[in-house]
Amino acid sequence: MIAIESLAHTYPTGQQIHFADATFTDNENWLILGDSGSGKSTLLNIMTGLLSPTSGKVILNQTDLYKLGNKLDRFRAQYMGIVFQKPYFIQSLTVSENLKLTQSLAGLKTNNHRILEVLEGLALADKKTSYTKDLSVGQLQRLSIARAILNRPAIIFADEPTASLDDRNTERVLELLINQAGKEKADLIVATHDKRVKDAITNIYLVNGGSQ
Ligand code: ADP
Ligand code: MG
Repeated sequence: MIAIESLAHTYPTGQQIHFADATFTDNENWLILGDSGSGKSTLLNIMTGLLSPTSGKVILNQTDLYKLGNKLDRFRAQYMGIVFQKPYFIQSLTVSENLKLTQSLAGLKTNNHRILEVLEGLALADKKTSYTKDLSVGQLQRLSIARAILNRPAIIFADEPTASLDDRNTERVLELLINQAGKEKADLIVATHDKRVKDAITNIYLVNGGSQ
């Protein structure tokens, strides 16, 4: 369960964004919908502890995210999986080395069995010793999903995961995200302005970006 309370953010430009209170309950998939520039990425960044809100709270289960101080990074690595808009990996590391890093950031020991299991689930097992620079866009997208589910997070966040994909791949990526979240019993929160995503996920949180 993740709840947001009285959240607002003001950028240095003076732009203010307010977010309606919500509780994203367990075992549910959610869409964060809104036009481009409405504040979807801002909200995801705040909910994942990457951007401190100007006011308000984010509570994951019993934990107030912004009271964690220097424990926040490890907390994120343990409980959250994030699929960013643009996949980024360490280019000089292989696929499995990148995933070992994800385990290490969460304070976990290397678990090669788990890495292989996740890579197999996303049809990437044959790429485990490849460098990420040698992967196709589609493979990188699947690797992003692999990384997001690796540590069995409580919540998976995805920011515009289908924005640059054609219809067929949009369907495929959504199916993967929904299946993997279901398999790991993680909640899934997807931010998008992509109308094609609407049918796949029923719960909707609207961001309107209205400055006040
Ligand atoms: P969305 O993800 O819905 O497209 P964003 O959350 O990226 O929207 O942006 C919301 C608003 O905040 C936009 O008007 C954008 O220009 C502004 N904004 C986003 N990031 C910054 C930033 N780092 N500095 C100043 N303004 C920003
Ligand atoms: Mg965005």
